[in-house]
Order: sequence, then structure tokens, then C-alpha cells
Amino acid sequence: MMRPLIGITCSRVVGGTWSQNSPGRFMDYAFDEYSSVVHHCGGAPILIPTAQNHESLQSICERLNGVILTGGPDIDPHFYGEEPLSGLGEIDEAIDLTELAVVKIALKKDLPILGICRGLQVLNVSEGGTLYQDIPSQVKESINHLQKKDKSVNAHYVRIDENTGLHLIFKRKKIQVNSRHHQAIKDLASSLIVTAWAQDGLIEAVENPSRTFVIGVQWHPEGTWKKDAFSKKLFHSLIRASKSAAKQKS
Ligand code: MN
Repeated sequence: MMRPLIGITCSRVVGGTWSQNSPGRFMDYAFDEYSSVVHHCGGAPILIPTAQNHESLQSICERLNGVILTGGPDIDPHFYGEEPLSGLGEIDEAIDLTELAVVKIALKKDLPILGICRGLQVLNVSEGGTLYQDIPSQVKESINHLQKKDKSVNAHYVRIDENTGLHLIFKRKKIQVNSRHHQAIKDLASSLIVTAWAQDGLIEAVENPSRTFVIGVQWHPEGTWKKDAFSKKLFHSLIRASKSAAKQKS
């Protein structure tokens, strides 16, 4: 059987050496960990550039069997009806527009989606939810969610609700995860349910029970999959769901 095609959304940087003579030109990128783990689990990774053309994105999604929404900069708070606070980080409207469009198309097609860190936040905002723009300045007595160590190391525990798809995958009520975020879900979108929390009560995972496989995690399983069995299980589940989606299509 052909490997399922997994679309991976990109972030952007102002181009490096190549753009010295043409400042302000952007380069799309995604860390290679995303592609590596998709390949390892039996999928074929393909990057979705920050193209803002809805028709193109629709044609791309038509050919995909699954989607990974990757980590990246903050979402422009205007997309959830707020003015920017002083703790807001970098934003990039082009990425927001691309990913929000991808989610809309993917949900309509019931494509499996795994939202990672910013990806979980995109899932929430796309369906009408809101975010804490900056945890340290907005959430009293929050634990440290912006670990200084590399994302290959786990940092804090999350408690997992037993009646969820996430629990079916992990078969554990508590696991340790890494944490490289300064934003989090504030108001949950009505289409989502919470599946895991940090000790301070912040939302660490969500899913959309009306779809076959729509899971968002606030941590970075692509950073730990080589050592951490639970991280690898999450990607295996995405690929399994994407294979089923591919079968149904053919
Ligand atoms: Mn965290």
C-alpha cells in the first residue's frame, strides 16, 4: 500500500544569506523532526508552503491523507477578537491565514489532524476559541511552561481524561511531556473537548469528538519521539488514521 501523504504546515523566516541583496523576502520552513517522525511511522511527509491562495490549499488538501499543524509564532489576537497585550510574541499573519484555511478545509473533509503546540491553538482559534497571549503575565501561579532545556527533554506532567481518544492511545492517566510555550487556550472552542491538563489547570490537549481524528497537544512530541514511547504512539495513531482515510478515498 502507498504511504499516506501527510501535509506539514510551515513557519517563515526572513531569508538568510540568499536574501542579503533582497531584504524582506521570506523562506518557508519546518523542522526536519516532523518529516523524520512521519517517515519513521510509515507516512510520506510533504510541506505545505505559506501560500495564501485558498484554491491552491484546497487542491493540496484534496491529495492529502492527514495534516500536522506545527509549532511556530503566536497567532494574531485579532483572529480571536482581542487587542495585542504587551506579552504577545512574534506574529505572522500569512501563517495564520494559511493554517486557518487548512484547518477549515481539513475539518470539512474529515482529514486526520494532529495539532502541535501552536497547532493546538490554531485548532481552538479556528473554531471560535481564545488564547492567553502570555501565560506568565496572565495566569497566576502557573508552572513553568517555557522550559530552558531543549525540547528533546520532558519537563512537566499532564493528567489525561480517561474517556478520550488520547487515553485510548496512551492508556495512561498521567504522562510527562516537554513544554515550550508561553501561550495557552483560554476559552475552549465549543467543538473541542479537553483531554489533558497541566498541574496548574492549563489545557495541554484537546480533541474534536465529531471528527475521526482531530487531536491537539500543547507539547512537542516531535522533539521526544526517539526516546519517548508516548510521543511515538501519537504519530503512529495519526498515520494509522491517515491510512484508513486513504483507503476510504480509493
Ligand atoms: Mn506545558
